[in-house]
Amino acid sequence: MALLRHTTGEIKERKALTVNPAKTCQPVGAMYAALGVKGCFPHSHGSQGCCAYHRSALTRHYKEPVVAGTSSFTEGSSVFGGQSNLITAIDNIFTLYDPEVIAIHTTCLSETIGDDLMQISQKAKDDGKVPAGKHIVYASTPSYVGTHVTGYANMVKGILKGFVTKTGTPNGKINIIPGFCEPSDMAEMRRLADMMGIDITMVPDTNGVLNGPMTGHYEMYPNAGATPAEIAGMGDAKATIGLGRWATADGVNFLDAEFKVPGHVMGLPIGLKATDRYVDLLRKLSGKTVPDSINFERGQVVDLLSDYSQYFYGKKVAMAGDPDQVLALVEFCITLGMIPAYTVTGTAGKYFDERMTELLKDVPYDCKFKCGGEADMYLLHQWIKNDPVDLLIGNTYLKYVARDEDIPLVRHGFPILDRVGHQYFPSVGYSGAMRLMEKFLEALLDRLDRDAPETRFELQL
Ligand code: SF4
Repeated sequence: MALLRHTTGEIKERKALTVNPAKTCQPVGAMYAALGVKGCFPHSHGSQGCCAYHRSALTRHYKEPVVAGTSSFTEGSSVFGGQSNLITAIDNIFTLYDPEVIAIHTTCLSETIGDDLMQISQKAKDDGKVPAGKHIVYASTPSYVGTHVTGYANMVKGILKGFVTKTGTPNGKINIIPGFCEPSDMAEMRRLADMMGIDITMVPDTNGVLNGPMTGHYEMYPNAGATPAEIAGMGDAKATIGLGRWATADGVNFLDAEFKVPGHVMGLPIGLKATDRYVDLLRKLSGKTVPDSINFERGQVVDLLSDYSQYFYGKKVAMAGDPDQVLALVEFCITLGMIPAYTVTGTAGKYFDERMTELLKDVPYDCKFKCGGEADMYLLHQWIKNDPVDLLIGNTYLKYVARDEDIPLVRHGFPILDRVGHQYFPSVGYSGAMRLMEKFLEALLDRLDRDAPETRFELQL
């Protein structure tokens, strides 16, 4: 906090230096994706410190105990490779914890050594360490490239590679691959499809895994998540929808290329327009009509928007987060009449610049945006120092900037360490749009009340 006070508005060109990154490391995303498979035990192939960090990042965000194994590299495995550690770990995990699936991801260290997960997994099977009917899936997740979003995408593809088959008999289902989002968001994506009477397979699906009820009993494998049999059937589906380009395109393209399941990659359905696109694509692919119950929810969003647009209009926003999240939020802010003045994401991708340019083309303001390693919260803070904003949107780490600059913060994204609600209430779909509007309004109107002089402090706005 004290260090942040020394942030200056003088922006210098930086190369290979990140300060307060708007991202975390690949295995965090891989571990999260693995938890969306029923009966799955994530395993980190690397040192204990990495695994402790990945588990604690997820545990602190979800307020649920996240369990995972580690290959526990020592000096020997760091030099000679971790094959024997991993085979012992696979044997121990199946013997002691009896999962249906072990989802293994690599770390910086095992990648640098060059451990080959395909070869080690095959050896484990050949050596009889994988009991009949049990499975291993794996993904390469070196964290010196990419971010937690890349790790999520890599593990999603690893899960699909490990299970999907094609029988040749169409099952009429639509596959949905959600981007890196909350369990509550996945539940909302499914709810909309259910309301239209569409039979879907969602992979991964963390709803019920990381936001489950208190039952009084610890369940290492909650009765939730996509089952291996459901995942296997994705090769016979009618189509696949990927919701979030960075997190899902690899999985969607894999199903398209390997199993000829036509793929559609779109953004996360955050906000009015993006949800409209999601519902419309479901309608087109399924041939079903959109029920009145969905139109009713949409109408509520429009009503709230028109009632309160005067408080959104012209408000300047700065945000940091995952590219799939911030692109959708930028579009929604523009729909609300706000100005997405500054946007950063630590995950790189050419499409980010293209899409931001397209979204901002009619916004009458010199909005700044950047993606990649140097697109960090320090840069965002510097932009704000030079030209303040009315609202911040981002994860818990932005609270320091919020305090330093005295700007209200709406917590959104990953990780949120100091609040609850994100795992239970969606920000996607029409109900999510209403929740976001409520949160934005709460922050803006609380500030209005706080700063109002005695003569303008009104009971009703
Ligand atoms: S960045 Fe690499 S070394 Fe650090 S916790 Fe992640 S995987 Fe481990």
